[in-house]
Amino acid sequence: MKAFKPHLQGLPSYPYKKVDASVKLDQNESPYDLPVELKQRVLQRLQHLDFNRYPALHAEDVREKLSVYLGWPMEGLVVSPGSNLLIQALVQAAGQVLDTAPSFPHYAFSAKISATPYQAIALGEGFALPTEALLEALQKTPTVLFLPNPHAPTAQLFAERDIRRLADRAAQTGGLLVIDEAYHQFSGTDYAWLASANPHVAILRTFSKAWGLGGIRAGYLMASPEVCNVVQNFVPPFGLPAHTGQILLTVLESPGYVQGIVQTLLRERERLFQALQPHPTWKVYPSQTNFLLIRTPDAAAAYSALLEQGILVRRQDHYLGLEGCIRVSVGTPQENQRFLEAAFSLAEVPHA
Ligand SMILES: *Cc1c(COP(=O)(O)O)cnc(C)c1O
Repeated sequence: MKAFKPHLQGLPSYPYKKVDASVKLDQNESPYDLPVELKQRVLQRLQHLDFNRYPALHAEDVREKLSVYLGWPMEGLVVSPGSNLLIQALVQAAGQVLDTAPSFPHYAFSAKISATPYQAIALGEGFALPTEALLEALQKTPTVLFLPNPHAPTAQLFAERDIRRLADRAAQTGGLLVIDEAYHQFSGTDYAWLASANPHVAILRTFSKAWGLGGIRAGYLMASPEVCNVVQNFVPPFGLPAHTGQILLTVLESPGYVQGIVQTLLRERERLFQALQPHPTWKVYPSQTNFLLIRTPDAAAAYSALLEQGILVRRQDHYLGLEGCIRVSVGTPQENQRFLEAAFSLAEVPHA
């Protein structure tokens, strides 16, 4: 197609393939659907919604409620169908993107489709943050740096002093540090205070994980009004569907259910982590998220053997430094039990 920009020729599509399995632990979703009472309230709201009318221009109704929930000014919020869209917007707006490797793939993918200059710096030994190299790269050119914290796919939390240094450097050079807090409920961390103190820091959040709303597509950006104005321009007008808005208004009125689910998942995460310690061939990394990164002798073999037992996980061995790794979302206690039994049954087969 010659009508398209040359850089779009032969572009690979997003690395995800749908596979059916009875135990689905491949996308870090919440294993728990929205509580039934809240779903009922959503349905009542939808009953009264005029489907023929456009929703708010920039999700003003949701931003107003979210603003109260977060204690964060409305002018500093952008809400969109999924935080992936906000990532794309930030990358499109960026003169240059800086990333870690491995990292959440949508940063690099967005840079590719928008032909935005992109540089990734490898994590160090033990997945250490390459702070000095990142500081240097930020110094050279004003840059948008994406930092998932807790980090995906390594599941670890970075040190506050390193994040502060990156934020300070971004402020000195006119850059922007984007802290992607997709998993922050599972680490108990919250860097909104840093974004509040420093307009060169922005926070990305999603409703897809702890809130249990992966299917409704919603995420938000907390940033300075200046950054939000730019990003909002990349989200199409009336971009948040009315039904998504109604669901968000409902959960923001009753957010209490999230805490209980997070507590259960944290208990299960620790149980899985401990239970996997004696595994003869797998090494499980400590996690501050709702998933575990596990190094196996052969990711393809582990993936297939688990799938044969009805358990779907995600291979991670295509990432730099993650040879042999798979990623397993924390599921319900029953799902986790099935995963553990399968994991130890593989260990009995040589080289499985
Ligand atoms: C899951 C995830 C997201 C969420 O993307 P949505 O489009 O909001 O579903 C964002 N960042 C990271 C690092 C994630 O793991």
